[in-house]
Amino acid sequence: MLEEIRRVVQEVNTAENLQQTLALIVLRVKEVMATDVCSVYLKDELAQQNVLMATDGLDPASVGNARLKLGKGLTGLVMERAEPINLKNAMDHPAYHFIKETGEESYHGFLGIPIIHHKTALGVIVVQTAQERNFAEDEVTLLVTLAAQLSGAIAHAQAIGDIKGLKNNVLLGNRPFRGLAGASGVTIGTALVIYPPADLDAVPNRSTTDTANEIKTFESAVAKVRQEIAELKTRVKDLSSENIALFDAYLLMLESNSLLRATKTRIEKNKCWASTALRDTIKEQVQVFDAMQDDYLRERAQDIKDLGRRILVHIQSKKSGTRRYPDKTILVSDELSASSLMEIPRSKLAGVICTHGSGSSHVAILARALGIPAVMGALDLPTNQVDSAKMIVDGYQGYVYVNPEQTVEIEYLKIIKEEEELSAELLESTHLPTETLDNVHIPLLVNTGLLADIASSSADSGAEGIGLYRTEFPFMIRDRFPGEEEQTKIYRKVLQSFAPRPVILRTLDIGGDKNLSYFPIKEENPFLGWRGIRISLDHPEIFLTQVRAMLRASIGLDNLHILLPMITSTCEVIESIAYINRAQKELIESGHAIPMPKIGAMIEVPSAVYQVDSIAKHADFLSIGTNDLIQYLLAVDRNNPNVANLFDSFHPAILHAIYQTVNGAKNQNIPVSVCGEMAGDPAAALLLVGMGLNSLSMSIVALPRIKSLIRKFSYIQAKQILKECLALDDSKMIRRLLNQHIDNAGLGGLLRPGK
Ligand code: PEP
Ligand code: MG
Repeated sequence: MLEEIRRVVQEVNTAENLQQTLALIVLRVKEVMATDVCSVYLKDELAQQNVLMATDGLDPASVGNARLKLGKGLTGLVMERAEPINLKNAMDHPAYHFIKETGEESYHGFLGIPIIHHKTALGVIVVQTAQERNFAEDEVTLLVTLAAQLSGAIAHAQAIGDIKGLKNNVLLGNRPFRGLAGASGVTIGTALVIYPPADLDAVPNRSTTDTANEIKTFESAVAKVRQEIAELKTRVKDLSSENIALFDAYLLMLESNSLLRATKTRIEKNKCWASTALRDTIKEQVQVFDAMQDDYLRERAQDIKDLGRRILVHIQSKKSGTRRYPDKTILVSDELSASSLMEIPRSKLAGVICTHGSGSSHVAILARALGIPAVMGALDLPTNQVDSAKMIVDGYQGYVYVNPEQTVEIEYLKIIKEEEELSAELLESTHLPTETLDNVHIPLLVNTGLLADIASSSADSGAEGIGLYRTEFPFMIRDRFPGEEEQTKIYRKVLQSFAPRPVILRTLDIGGDKNLSYFPIKEENPFLGWRGIRISLDHPEIFLTQVRAMLRASIGLDNLHILLPMITSTCEVIESIAYINRAQKELIESGHAIPMPKIGAMIEVPSAVYQVDSIAKHADFLSIGTNDLIQYLLAVDRNNPNVANLFDSFHPAILHAIYQTVNGAKNQNIPVSVCGEMAGDPAAALLLVGMGLNSLSMSIVALPRIKSLIRKFSYIQAKQILKECLALDDSKMIRRLLNQHIDNAGLGGLLRPGK
C-alpha cells in the first residue's frame, strides 16, 4: 500500500492545478483500491453546500453541479463528524441521501474520509462499490493518508482562488491572504520578490519591455553552460563511456528546440524575463519526463532540472547588481534573511512579507525595530506571481492584499491616517516620565541591533537606555567575523549614542534561526542545538575578542552592561564571568583603565527559571527573553507558522514562570527586566508592571504606546489585575480580561489598528 501511496502522490505532484490534481487522485484511487467510484466533494462556504469536484465512476456531467446542503447525506455526516465512515451498505444508513444528478443509486459499499486542514474540514474523499463491501483497515489508512496530503493543496488553492466552481472562489484583491502579525502597522506599496539564487522554482513572474535583451541574456547563458559542459567532458576522460554519453546528452539538450526555441518564444510571447521563461520551459520538460513509464527516462527529469539551474545561475550573475527598488517597496520572500532586509535603502522600504516564519522570527523582530509593518507565515501567498503588484500589508492582523480593490484600499488609507494621528499624539508625551498614576517609575528601554535604527531610537524617543543590543545582527550582515577593532567601533557608537543612559550589549547569540554565512551550523534541531552562550564558551577566542571590544568601547563612557544569552545553568554564568574578568584584567595590564561592567543573564530557557535563585546570586541583573522562554516552555517553534497560534504569551505557565523569575531576582536584590517582544504588547506590559519588573525593553515603535499605557494605570491597579489573571487558567480569558481593563481606561486604540 505504501508504495502505491507514494506513486499516486508522486504523480499528483506533477499536476498543474487543483482540478488536475483531483482528477488524477480519483482516477488512481479507484484503480488502486479496485472500487467502482472515487469522488471528491469540497465545501462551498458561501453556498453552504458540498459540491462534487471530481469523480471517476459517477456521471462526469455532475461535476460542479451535484450539490448537497452542508450536513446532508453521508458526505455531510463525514464532514460533520470529521472522521471516516465505512459502510457495507450505504443505503441502509439513515443519513443516506440519493443525489439524482450523479446516477449513484446502484452503489452499496461506501468509505468516506474527511479532508481536514488545521482542524477545518474542507471536503470529503469517497469510494463506492456496486457490491456490498467492508473496507479493510489498510484501505482506510490509505485514504486517510491521501486526504491528509491533499488538504494542504486544497487550502492553498482556495486561498489563491484556484478552485473553479466554488462560490467562495474569489479573485485576488478583495480577500486577504492570511498570515501572522509580524510587525504592527499598515502600509500600501509595490511588491518586490526576493528569491534564493539558482532556484528555478523560486523565480517569480517578471515582465520586461526589452525582450531582445532578455533573449540575448538567455543565449549567452546557454553558450556559457555549453562551454562548461564541454570542458567537464574533456576533464573527466577517464570516466566510463556511459558517463561520457551523459555529457553528450546534456550538450544535445542544450541545442534542442524544446529548450532554446521554447524559451525564446516564451520571452517574446509573454514579454517576460529570461529567468521566468526558462523556469516554465524547464517545468514543462520535467513534466514530460516525469510522466514516462521507463525508469531510466524518468530519471532524466533530474538532468533537465540541473541544466536549467546551470543556465539560471549565468542569467542571474548577469543581472546581479541591477536591482532597482520601487518607492514604497514591499519585500516579499519565502525566507528573508536579515542581510536582504538591510540591503534595501531604508527610505524605500515600506513593508515585509514572508511566507515562512512567525511573529517571533528574527526577521519580524528586525522589521519591528525598523518600524516596518510585516506579515509572516503567509503560507498561501503565491510569491512567484506577485512581483510588482500593488499590495497592502496589515501587520496587525497578518493580512496581505494583492492588487486590492478600491474599497479595501480606501479603508486602509483611513487606518493609515488614523495611525499617523495616533503616533503624533503619542509622540507628544515622549518627554513625560514613564510613571504609573501612583508615581512608580518604570524605565522603558529599546531593543536594537543595527546602527541604522539607533539614530531614531536615541533622538528624543523617550527611551531611557538600550535594554537589548543584539550583537549578532552586525555579524550577520558581514561576510566574515568582524575583528576586535571593527567591533570596538560598532559598540562605541552604540554606547555613545545613549550615554550616560545604560546600554546592554548582549554577547553573540547565533544559532537557531540566526546563521552566519561564514560560520555555517547545520543541525537537525537548531533551536535545541549549538546556540548563544554555548558557542561562545566553546570558542573562547571569539568570545574574548567580543568582550574585549565591548570593554574597550566603554572607556570613558561607563554605561556598558553585558548580557549573556541562552543560559541554561549557573555554571555557564560563572564561566562567562571568568572570561570577562580575564579580558578586563588583560586590558588593565595593557594600560587601559576599564571598570568591570554589570553582567546579566538572560532567562529564556525553562531550566534557568528553576535555577533563578542560584543564577541571580552570580549575576548583577536578569533579563527575561520571552520569545525563547515561550518557545521552550510551550514546545512551540517560534518560526513555525503551523503552530504559531500556540505561541501564547498569556499561557498561564508563561505568566507563572515570569513571576517566579521576578521573585527570584527580588530575593537576591538584583533588577530584572523583560526584553522579549512581550514587553511591547500593551496587555502583557500591564501584567509585567503588576509583577514588579524593574524595567521593560522593546522595539522603538512600541515604546510610545507602552508609555501611554503605564501613565494611565496605578501600580496598585496593575497588581490587582495581575492577581485576577493569575487566578485564571485559560489564556483567552486572561487576554479578554486585560483588554477589558485597557478599554475601560479609554486606551482601546492601543489594542487595534487605527485610533
Ligand atoms: C528572547 O528570546 O526573548 C530574546 C529577547 O532574544 P532573541 O529574540 O534574540 O532570541
Ligand atoms: Mg532569545
